Amino acid sequence: MTTKILLDESHLPARWYNVRADLCTQPPPPLHPGDRSPIRPQDMAPLFPMEFITQGIISTDRFVVIPEEVRDVYRLWRPTPLIRAHRLERALRTPARIYFKYEGISPTGSHKPNTAVAQAYYNARQGVRRLTTETGNGQWGSALAFACAQFGLECDVWMVKASYDQKPARRSMMELYGARVHASPSEETSAGAKALAEDPYSPGSVGIAISEAVEASAAPDTRYALGSVLNAVLLHQTIIGEEALEQMAGDPPDLIVGVVGGGSTFAGLAFPFLREKWSGRFDPRFLAVEPAACPSLTRGRYAYDYFDAAGFTPLFKMHTLGHDFVPGPIHAGGLRYHGMSPLLSHMYELGHFEATAKSQRECFDAGVLFARTEGIVPAPEPNHALAAVVEEARRCAETGEAEVILTALCGHGHFDMRAYERHLSGRLEDPEAPPEQIESALTHLP
Ligand SMILES: *Cc1c(COP(=O)(O)O)cnc(C)c1O
Repeated sequence: MTTKILLDESHLPARWYNVRADLCTQPPPPLHPGDRSPIRPQDMAPLFPMEFITQGIISTDRFVVIPEEVRDVYRLWRPTPLIRAHRLERALRTPARIYFKYEGISPTGSHKPNTAVAQAYYNARQGVRRLTTETGNGQWGSALAFACAQFGLECDVWMVKASYDQKPARRSMMELYGARVHASPSEETSAGAKALAEDPYSPGSVGIAISEAVEASAAPDTRYALGSVLNAVLLHQTIIGEEALEQMAGDPPDLIVGVVGGGSTFAGLAFPFLREKWSGRFDPRFLAVEPAACPSLTRGRYAYDYFDAAGFTPLFKMHTLGHDFVPGPIHAGGLRYHGMSPLLSHMYELGHFEATAKSQRECFDAGVLFARTEGIVPAPEPNHALAAVVEEARRCAETGEAEVILTALCGHGHFDMRAYERHLSGRLEDPEAPPEQIESALTHLP
């Protein structure tokens, strides 16, 4: 009985996969917030390194070579294991075979370093000395802090005030890697000062923290880094799917399930399998799972909207709940974002995958079952994928179908014990986005 499928270092992928090369139509371009003309690559140069911009909006090469310096850092934890969840299968009495790609073994505990390392490298190579970013629950901030330490960059992280107070261990982890962590809203930027003037006790939001980090990136030799949503981020994450493709060669999947916040872990797992589907090698279904409290794909509108709450950024055509939509206080902080990757949004419209929304308690039930069977405590975000996996495996138990289900366990939940504690004591809320709140936020689309 094989439980773990490991690849040795010689199988570390040498290339990321650019799915845009194989799409019949390209996603609509981002637009300038002022005159609404398509954004030109040089407009983004103050924010991102040139290589990152090229990968995201210019290049239509099918494959992008991963720089050796980046692969060298990846080797600290990659290739990651693919694990067959025999014990979960048994508990569900299902004939389905369930596999998960475990990204929680990265140094910071999630898939985020896959892109953080690449972004830090391209910035360092271009002579940039300092990166700024925001973080909600701390996963992205930790990943970027780690990556900056690898390439000798300074790092400033604006951490949403509510998490800054609630998750001091994540804050310490970033500082341990050498980053400076600022509670957002802060007095150090005009966006932060404005938010504080409106509400001195503001708990902050990802949208405000983005505005602060973007503003701070205007300093000399400084750029901004983003951990999800953008095309180049999705590209870097395809290393997950490339490895999984090789690991699943003996038992090809019928169903691929992933959680979507900004969409990078789902895209990273799914895109290489989509390529093989298009080439006729096999024919799996793809299912993206989002929170019922923030259902941009299943209940949002496909329209141009701002990327941040304040409305400073370019307009992206994406599935959105409206840039001033404030999701309920779910513990999966990585999923509390009003929009969705423009590339995934476009591909959803083209019908390349399905989407569903799950409530918080159902997700935590799946996380507890997973911990008690497989032993790993999942982060609140991948609990969404696990809830859908459990539902599909139960369906297989009823119909007797021995389907092969693949998911990504994109992070561990070692910093999320308070959320589990609330769930175990029956105090976890189950917020669902009220239709009138979505409708009202959508009336503010630009
Ligand atoms: C950031 C994060 C997410 C959400 O972002 P995606 O781009 O959709 O992957 C999901 N899970 C974990 C563990 C995260 O850190």
